[in-house]
Amino acid sequence: NPNAPGTVLAAPARAAARAEKFDTAAIQRQDTAHYMHPFTDHQALGGKGVRVMVRGEGIYLWDSEGNKVLDGMSGLWCVNVGYGRTSISQAVYKQMETLPFYNSFFNTTNLPAVQLAAKLAEISPPRFQHVFFTGSGSEGNDTNVRMVRRYWDLLGQPARKVIISRHNAYHGSTMAGASLGGMDGMHAQGGLPIPDIVHIGQPSYLESGRGMTPDEFGVAAAGWLEQKILEVGADKVAAFIGEPVQGAGGVIIPPATYWPEIQRICDKYGILLIADEVICGFGRTGRWFASELFGMRPDLITFAKGVTSGYVPLGGVLVGDRVARVLIEQGGEFNHGFTYSGHPVACAAALENIRIIESEGLVDRVANDTGPYLERRFAELADHPLVGYADSCGFVAGLNLVKAKAAAVHDHELFDPALEVGMVCRGHMFGNGMIMRAVGDRMIIAPPLVMTRAQIDEMVALIRHCLDLTHADIK
Ligand code: PLP
Repeated sequence: NPNAPGTVLAAPARAAARAEKFDTAAIQRQDTAHYMHPFTDHQALGGKGVRVMVRGEGIYLWDSEGNKVLDGMSGLWCVNVGYGRTSISQAVYKQMETLPFYNSFFNTTNLPAVQLAAKLAEISPPRFQHVFFTGSGSEGNDTNVRMVRRYWDLLGQPARKVIISRHNAYHGSTMAGASLGGMDGMHAQGGLPIPDIVHIGQPSYLESGRGMTPDEFGVAAAGWLEQKILEVGADKVAAFIGEPVQGAGGVIIPPATYWPEIQRICDKYGILLIADEVICGFGRTGRWFASELFGMRPDLITFAKGVTSGYVPLGGVLVGDRVARVLIEQGGEFNHGFTYSGHPVACAAALENIRIIESEGLVDRVANDTGPYLERRFAELADHPLVGYADSCGFVAGLNLVKAKAAAVHDHELFDPALEVGMVCRGHMFGNGMIMRAVGDRMIIAPPLVMTRAQIDEMVALIRHCLDLTHADIK
């Protein structure tokens, strides 16, 4: 009886999918005819069918043609516990059978949302005792904008509206998310950013650190924040937002001096600090939250992705005591919320996902075992003639493709961007069973945290093979 409580459908469903045959061309025709994909130039596809993913297990995916692919990107930086976790599908099924939906408006709550809020308070730094749930990371960042403005209004400083962010940051695709982000291509469409959001440079040592040590550069790059605060007027600045490690911008790992200096500057001017941990949270850098690794003391933390390992959508904001106290004790009703804030099914998935992360010691593994191993194996790729620089932080890593190497990283000769060497390399990866993303000529990975040492070896060998193919191509 499939309706009996506790019935496990997931494993048989996966077994059936293993045997299923697909008409790829028909799926592709339907896709082209009807499905408008996110961040996709449909015209440029020129009618060429896109790849159809049908199944996932552990760190691997299978497409409709039966090809096996090593997913170096955890889907979209989210499948932290890997694919095919029956206990998550079971938790979701059980919750759907019991209470598929109820909202948290109008003085009501639901069990998984309460339990998850308490669990998040337990695993985050002690000053985070409250959480606001959303359906995505973008909605989390929209929530941040409304929260920090409300906070300063309540403190009698309504002029503090400006939020400072960084060029090349990614904070989502809603109007506020895309405005907080610093992607030129996004700002160019639709008249963004919205007012009162301004940007400073990103802490990219490769891009801007010439003539400095990484540590000197970290302090210098943080200094751009102070310059911007003084330019805008300190009494007008509400908050600074940043990803501890910029993800979509190309895995920009800041020098160790950067965040402590940013923190000092925020403290000096009384400005709120928002850590966008949508990618970095839930173990990716070897801590529950990367803020802990980088010496940040954020007032708000945006989360999504890894909270459910992407099995179902969920996001939110961890609200630190400084903000929570003012909003709760002085604010009355906060006129903000989503139908799916605290969705019971999503929260049930998150609780099981966090249980898996804990029981398998994944955060500790990334910190002390597989993370350092990945760092070592990935760094070895720098001996490849195409690789000018390779670095990593826990389970995010990137390498830069260069035309000719010099002794100092700032002297490498770069490729003509028009050659799109990164995309050539990505094509080889895709064609050879490896998903690695290209941001310009920087190739990046963020693999599932369950990846073993043997699988890291397998991945590094695949990457090296595809680098060889790329090298042969462009010679
Ligand atoms: N913030 C960061 C750092 C992200 O990487 C993303 C998505 O990639 C977002 C926010 C937006 O999250 P979502 O796509 O769930 O809205």
